[in-house]
Amino acid sequence: MYETPETLPKAMTKHLLIKLIFLLCWLTACSTTPTGRSQLTFLFEHEVDSMGLQAFANLKQEKPINHDVKNNQFVRCVADSLTREVGGQWEVVVFEDKTLNAFALPGGKIGVHTGLIAFVDNQDQLATVIGHEIGHVLAKHGNERMSQQLGTQLGVSLIQAVAAPQTQLGQTAISLLGVGAQYGIIMPFSRLQESEADIIGQELMAKAGFDPRQSITLWQKMERHGQGQQPAEFLSTHPAYDTRIQDLQAHLPKALALQQQALLSGKTPQCHK
Ligand SMILES: [Zn+2]
Repeated sequence: MYETPETLPKAMTKHLLIKLIFLLCWLTACSTTPTGRSQLTFLFEHEVDSMGLQAFANLKQEKPINHDVKNNQFVRCVADSLTREVGGQWEVVVFEDKTLNAFALPGGKIGVHTGLIAFVDNQDQLATVIGHEIGHVLAKHGNERMSQQLGTQLGVSLIQAVAAPQTQLGQTAISLLGVGAQYGIIMPFSRLQESEADIIGQELMAKAGFDPRQSITLWQKMERHGQGQQPAEFLSTHPAYDTRIQDLQAHLPKALALQQQALLSGKTPQCHK
């Protein structure tokens, strides 16, 4: 496009901003997500992990836990198959809650609502959602969102605030980590973070031997179900079900190849609802 003199200062500002971001990355904490995107993460990993642990401990005290053996076996079977590919220790808890939701927190914590278990048709659909949630953790989206806030207004107090979920700041901090809906504060992940979690999740489920085609089936099912009533964690993608499904379609050949490898190496999860 022809650049008029008026647009030059704008272009220069943009140029300066890019330079500044590079400088910041170099000086501080730039990391790369599993999909290769550069991101700013100001907080130390162990700080974010301990925030995740604290938030999860609070949730376990506040929310009713479902102890149904079948539910728990099903969820654990799917989650364990996925986390085996990631490594580390993960705790999995089923919460008594009719909403179609699940979340994963830094520090290795996974929560699944009974509403989601009732909704999915099979192990592969549950693996889609849990894989997506683990994708947010692997891509450090909590840290990234906190860092954006730190850069603007809230300062280090966010870190302490997680321990006080009854306060406004505590609820903000917890929702930045990815479980805001529990407290009525919804801070959806950005569209970029959502797509990233979709792709990481689809690859992860395929590597664990689940059928990645079911990720598309699940989102189509959500779309049909969700007229006016989308699960909170996925609100940010509104009205982008189509984009989400298209992206997963486009990435399917790679995921199917990964699943093929997994099946050949004997990874054939058998998790029954
Ligand atoms: Zn998400």
